[in-house]
Amino acid sequence: MTVQVQHHISDELLLAYATGELAEGWSLAVATHLALCPSCRNRLSFMEHAGGEMLELATQETTAETPAGSWDDMKAKISASEPLKKPEVKTAPTQTHPPVLPEPLRSYLGADVGQLKWKALGRGAYHIPIKTADGQTQVRLLKIPAGKPVPEHSHGGRELTLVLKGAFTDGASVFKRGDLEEADESLTHQPVATPEEDCICLAVTDAPLKFQSRLLRILQPILGI
Ligand SMILES: [Zn+2]
Repeated sequence: MTVQVQHHISDELLLAYATGELAEGWSLAVATHLALCPSCRNRLSFMEHAGGEMLELATQETTAETPAGSWDDMKAKISASEPLKKPEVKTAPTQTHPPVLPEPLRSYLGADVGQLKWKALGRGAYHIPIKTADGQTQVRLLKIPAGKPVPEHSHGGRELTLVLKGAFTDGASVFKRGDLEEADESLTHQPVATPEEDCICLAVTDAPLKFQSRLLRILQPILGI
C-alpha cells in the first residue's frame, strides 16, 4: 500500500511533540501520523537534532568565547548529519496485507479494525472511545458511512482528525489515509466520507464538540460525543 500523505503536522504541533509538551491524546495522533509519513519523520529528526545542537552550543558559550560564524557552522553540521530516530514511532511495515491501524494506535485498541467492537453513534456512524491517562483529551476511533457527513460542528478547542481508511472531503480539501486535519475553535466544518467506502479516522478533541443543531446538542451527552 503506497501512502501519499498530503496533509501534514503543523510546525507548532510537531515542535510541541518533539519537546514532550503534548498531552497523551494529541501525542497519539501525531505518533500515528508519523508512522505513516516519512516526510514528517524527517522534519521531527531535524527539529530534535537542531534542539540538541543548540543546547550544546549554549553550554559551550558559558565556558568559552563564541567563535565568529558559529551559527553557520551549526547549520552546516545539522544539514550534513544523519537524522535521528524517535523511539516511540514505529514505521508501518511493508507487508502484503499491512494492518489498517499502525502502531502505536493498534496497541491502544488491542486489535486491528476487523476485530474491533464498534458502538453505534446514530445515522450509520460508529465509534470506539480510546482511554488515555491525560485527563484533557477525548480520543476516539470514528467510522463514517460511505458518502455520509459527520454532523457539522465547531470546536471548543483543537481537533485533530487522522484518516486511517477510506477518505473524507472537507470543503475543497480531500483527506486520505495518513492525512491529518488540524482544526481549532475558529473553524466550523463538515467532513463528508467519500462514496467509495466507509471512512475510519482517529479523532482527538480537547473539549466537547459544539454542534450547530440544538437537537444534537441535547443528545450529545447521551451519544458520548
Ligand atoms: Zn506528514
